[in-house]
Amino acid sequence: MDPIIDLTHITKTYRSKGKSVLALKDVTLPVEKGSFTTIVGPSGCGKSTLLKIIAGISLPYQGRLNYKGREVASINTDVGFVTQDSNLFPWLTLSENVELALKIRGVSKEQRAQAAQKLIDTMQLTGFETHYPFELSGGMQKRCSIIRTLIYDPDIILMDEPFGPLDAQTRLVLQDELLRIWDTNKKTILFVTHDLTEAIALSDKVVLFTGRPGTVKRIFDVPLPRPRNVFEIHNEKGFTDLYHEIWSHFKTEIK
Ligand code: ADP
Ligand code: MG
Repeated sequence: MDPIIDLTHITKTYRSKGKSVLALKDVTLPVEKGSFTTIVGPSGCGKSTLLKIIAGISLPYQGRLNYKGREVASINTDVGFVTQDSNLFPWLTLSENVELALKIRGVSKEQRAQAAQKLIDTMQLTGFETHYPFELSGGMQKRCSIIRTLIYDPDIILMDEPFGPLDAQTRLVLQDELLRIWDTNKKTILFVTHDLTEAIALSDKVVLFTGRPGTVKRIFDVPLPRPRNVFEIHNEKGFTDLYHEIWSHFKTEIK
């Protein structure tokens, strides 16, 4: 195994207003390069906290986080972070939002436009380039936030319940698109969801966390063949057994 991220004994305590909250306790998790790993666990068990630690935006913590063999002690700019809200800049058009990271890096206008258009076309957003976020549907905003992250070619993409607020059909379409992009670009994806079907449909491994303080309870391999059909995943041989197995361990963590 070649872990791109290696978490060992990660413990995180938040301190605010004189109180302390133990969010994560002794999390040890290697994430293999090129893999699709999904974390599931009860609300408040520290899933978002773990992604923030990996992105280098939740300091300090105890334990060790190695990224490509080196310790992360500040913001890790090799990591792309797709948060729960789309977080698009409302005063920028779709294209401008997508191009922003390249603009900051000083990439020429022509190159930026070319790279953005390719991704916009891949995500079926063609024709909406000059629209502002408020003129886009929730699913389109989500697509925009994903390609805005892809454009600067991060090694790892962290995704925190990215499809949470979307309707069931749009979720399936975006899951399907995400798998295609992952397959083409060979990125490492660390994904968080509360939806077990989504976790199984997308992942190589499903990591189940305990209730707070969150720690790894169990890791499940997902042996379903690829490419996967997310629209029919429940009919895939082995899906139901795996779903019930994970759920039997998950439900005991929900209080
Ligand atoms: P999850 O994403 O699994 O729902 P979080 O990582 O958001 O969980 O939160 C884990 C725990 O840490 C929760 O009890 C939450 O209230 C607490 N927490 C999260 N962020 C902060 C913060 N900035 N300050 C204090 N407590 C926090
Ligand atoms: Mg969260």
